[in-house]
Amino acid sequence: MDKLNAKKIRADFPILKQKINGEQLIYLDSAATSQMPVSVEEKIRRFNETSRANVHRGVHTLGVKATKLYEKSRQKVADFIGASSAKEVIFTSGCTDSLNLVAASFGEQNIQAGDEIVVSIMEHHSNLLPWQQLAKRKKAQLKFIEISKDGRLDLNGLKNKISSKTKLVALTHVSNVLGTINPIKEVIALAHEKGAIALIDGAQAVGHFPVNVTDLGADFYAFSGHKMFAPTGIGVLYGKRELLDKMLPYRLGGEMIANVTRDGATWAEVPQKFEAGTPNISGAIGLAAAIDYLNSIDLQLVKEHETELTAYVLEKLSKISGLTIYGPKESYERTGVISFNLKGIHPHDLATALDLDGIEVRAGHHCAQPLMESLETESTVRASLSIYNNKNDIDKLTSSLQEAKEFFSEFR
Ligand code: PMP
Repeated sequence: MDKLNAKKIRADFPILKQKINGEQLIYLDSAATSQMPVSVEEKIRRFNETSRANVHRGVHTLGVKATKLYEKSRQKVADFIGASSAKEVIFTSGCTDSLNLVAASFGEQNIQAGDEIVVSIMEHHSNLLPWQQLAKRKKAQLKFIEISKDGRLDLNGLKNKISSKTKLVALTHVSNVLGTINPIKEVIALAHEKGAIALIDGAQAVGHFPVNVTDLGADFYAFSGHKMFAPTGIGVLYGKRELLDKMLPYRLGGEMIANVTRDGATWAEVPQKFEAGTPNISGAIGLAAAIDYLNSIDLQLVKEHETELTAYVLEKLSKISGLTIYGPKESYERTGVISFNLKGIHPHDLATALDLDGIEVRAGHHCAQPLMESLETESTVRASLSIYNNKNDIDKLTSSLQEAKEFFSEFR
């Protein structure tokens, strides 16, 4: 079996060479934001040095060049996620923006009093709050799919939650706390059986394993560039053409119109209808470069590497007494997002202790407070993996956790 060229990959991310608090940096917070390889930075720099201009406006040479690069990036995204047309790819500022777009446009137009919206208890606030507030405004009902003790979706409960009243099922592909990979193809099929639309939050999925929106049957699929080696401030909303065509624009301004008079306006076709104002042109070009980078590695190898490393983390952490790991115990059912708590130590104290050893992890509620409540905790420590992590990083994490445990035990 082929393996990732781990040495070469680490060299592609110069940030990893630095020291933090005098210790070699170990970056275990890629679920929040991944690092960016030099090839992506290089592509953006080249764009700014040779082709920078606004898109879809000028007839001048640079404007045409920039527009071509921007639209080529859209096609690259479409191919990467298996969309049938680049017109189904809308550039947004990130996953949060994509989800809000669907709520403000599709939601406002289609959700009525008495309708039901189904989400899961493991949603990030970005895929919860737009639906919670829409439901309140429209007097619709928000229903939650619960999870089992080991952090998997309760599929039996789910079948009862989705009914003929359900207009929308909004579900995360992968939990940003538990790492659980949800069986979204089955859930989407169930939603469709009942006549509901399925929206998937792919923020923690895209870039970690192959995603094909057409094969999944997703009506909408949202994700962010900065979690998959692209810059911050660029994201994607994929939507089925027949849905996007019927939706009203969510922001109004330049470049999203067909015609404007004193009395009214008509809208441009998708995707321009949803891209008011100057878009994040260099961000889109950076996203395309990140896709080139991932394709050069092979997503299947990325998945295998992260699964193997996740198994290693689960094994190592399970040996630390007093440590609770949340989420599925089987590495193939999850990605490398591992949340845990160490008895008697606040997650923020633990994350600070790890930082002193150069290890960057996240601590908090991870923008998933209803999930925290269901896990009967307020916060967790979260270590999250990417292609540039290796077993040495995990060994260091484990020994640093052991040391922190001993240190804090002296104060009890
Ligand atoms: N959904 C999930 C599952 C996430 O993990 C995140 C980021 N933590 C988001 C949505 C929001 O992404 P962004 O902040 O890039 O808009």
